[in-house]
Amino acid sequence: MSTAYECDVIVVGAGTSGCYAAATAADAGLDVVVLERKTADEAGHIACGDALKGADAFPDIIPRSQLEPAFTNTGVDHGRFEIPQEDTVLDIPVPGELAVIDRLEFGKRLIGAATDAGASFKYDTVVQDVLQADDHTVTGVRATHNNTVRTYKSDIVIDGAGALSILQDKAEFSSTSFDTNVTYSQFCSAYREIVEVPEPVEWDDALVFKPTERAAGYLWYFPRTETTINAGLGFQMTEEPMNLVEDLARDLRTRPEFEGATVTDKLGAALPTRRPYDSAVAPGFMAVGDAAGHVNPTTGGGIAGAAFSGRYAGEQAVSAISSGDVGEASLWEYNERVMDRFGTRYAGLDVYNILSTSIEVDNLMGLLAALPGEKLAEALYSGTTSFGVGLILKTIRNSFGYWGEILNFYRTKNLADEVMTQYNDYPSRPSGLDGWQATRNDIMDNIYDVTGADPKYWEDRQEWNDLAACSRWTRLRFDLDCFLNFHLVEFWDNLTQFWIKLVNKLFGLLSRDCSLTWRFNKILLFKHAKRVANFMMRIACFVRHFHNPDRFTIYYHSKHLQMTLKHIHFFLKSVYHVIC
Ligand SMILES: Cc1cc2nc3c(=O)[nH]c(=O)nc-3n(C[C@H](O)[C@H](O)[C@H](O)COP(=O)(O)OP(=O)(O)OC[C@H]3O[C@@H](n4cnc5c(N)ncnc54)[C@H](O)[C@@H]3O)c2cc1C
Repeated sequence: MSTAYECDVIVVGAGTSGCYAAATAADAGLDVVVLERKTADEAGHIACGDALKGADAFPDIIPRSQLEPAFTNTGVDHGRFEIPQEDTVLDIPVPGELAVIDRLEFGKRLIGAATDAGASFKYDTVVQDVLQADDHTVTGVRATHNNTVRTYKSDIVIDGAGALSILQDKAEFSSTSFDTNVTYSQFCSAYREIVEVPEPVEWDDALVFKPTERAAGYLWYFPRTETTINAGLGFQMTEEPMNLVEDLARDLRTRPEFEGATVTDKLGAALPTRRPYDSAVAPGFMAVGDAAGHVNPTTGGGIAGAAFSGRYAGEQAVSAISSGDVGEASLWEYNERVMDRFGTRYAGLDVYNILSTSIEVDNLMGLLAALPGEKLAEALYSGTTSFGVGLILKTIRNSFGYWGEILNFYRTKNLADEVMTQYNDYPSRPSGLDGWQATRNDIMDNIYDVTGADPKYWEDRQEWNDLAACSRWTRLRFDLDCFLNFHLVEFWDNLTQFWIKLVNKLFGLLSRDCSLTWRFNKILLFKHAKRVANFMMRIACFVRHFHNPDRFTIYYHSKHLQMTLKHIHFFLKSVYHVIC
């Protein structure tokens, strides 16, 4: 049985971004329906570290006074970085307002505020598909509720369904500017427990961080109160998967303050640790919060980005609907406001995230211990920092043994500044996006060269741009003539693209509705599949450069050939693990 509903705006997801978007659009008089897959009791129960930064400046569509009762600890003023490798603890001040919150209470209050503004919430409603007109304008969604299929039609759909949103898997965005350059490796897998300890902890005024055994992960201990601790950890999905539950339990056992503690809640989820989407709009559609990569990629803090993007998308929906035009150009200002508010900063911070994936954990920790705390804090939150001459000399003295890393860090910082300058020039209309991306991708190429990190975004690679430009995959499929006359270069290009699409598609399909263990196996599988794709791209470049020997360097390719053979080996091993 199928039932149909109509409204002005559909918001998918009753998280922070969805609630801010719904409250904004409903407050302006639009008919807004929020679809949430959880039950009414569970809605607002979100996997989170519960650290809320900068709430004093949040959009006032949801008054701060309405959220404040969820702020359980407002006395936190610094980060405490434990570096066991260096036997050091760094205390780093956190600029601006910071609170640790009761996340469920916070979530309920957001929903209450959006309801008060006039939005209507449908719980237990799982969105499973996106409706699109012939010209690919999004016109609604299809959802299930109690085994009944429901069709919701609207002028605009706002996707606030969180990381790895299913809506973006289902919709056809190839003819739009919407950023589809999204793969699992740009996400972090994270898990947290709420732990009650028998005695007050000494560090109830600090957010405690500790590196995991690998560079691209960290553990956290955030005090909701002096006896209720949010303890969690996460790792970048480019790394070999960690056993999150066991690794957390192991660290808890080493800390005397957790002796006799009880766990009252457990939750895990993926979160984006990438730059914001280049464009989060398509005709009739906007993505907000985690669904558009609006998270600080170095701290994992995403509540602020979700609140602001929700607010801006709500306002954009109001203006587009009142103008009678929900096309991409009409929604574009939403992208500009996001980049202006925090997107530029997050894109700069993403550069440090990329750097961290290429540094050995011991070196990274040594480097952290050597850098001045306040400068680290500045870089962590603003995306850049500056050093005076005195401070440079002091840092050079303290960092003996890590000068190579410092130099790398310095070069990376300059490139991060370049990236931010480019984001400050974000285009004012969709037609400017291609040129803007090309310049940004050139800077990204330099970043991979300097850091030695693997490319995080396919399109960042110049080689990939070359390949994409000459792609004939569609022709190869449909044009037998082309197939019979194929050139080796084209054939390899097509095969490479097919492989990349297959890997991305499969990951999208397989990363849902499966247990954590299954997911880990698949992550492993796709990590190596991606490396194989990288290898194929390099072969394609080889063939291409063979015709143009000026650009070919044998060292570059032989080094990567070795690496890739290793990854083919791991890939086959992962296939074996998944199958068996
Ligand atoms: C373990 C962990 C720790 C974190 N710690 C912090 C922190 O300390 N501070 C911080 O600022 N940020 C933190 N973050 C990030 C932060 O939680 C997110 O950035 C923020 O919640 C994003 O809000 P959102 O509304 O975009 O998405 P979400 O909060 O994820 O909300 C998405 C909503 O959509 C619903 N939904 C999903 N799919 C469907 C569907 N198909 N149909 C219907 N409904 C659907 C979900 O049930 C959910 O209610 C953390 C994230 C994780 C995973």
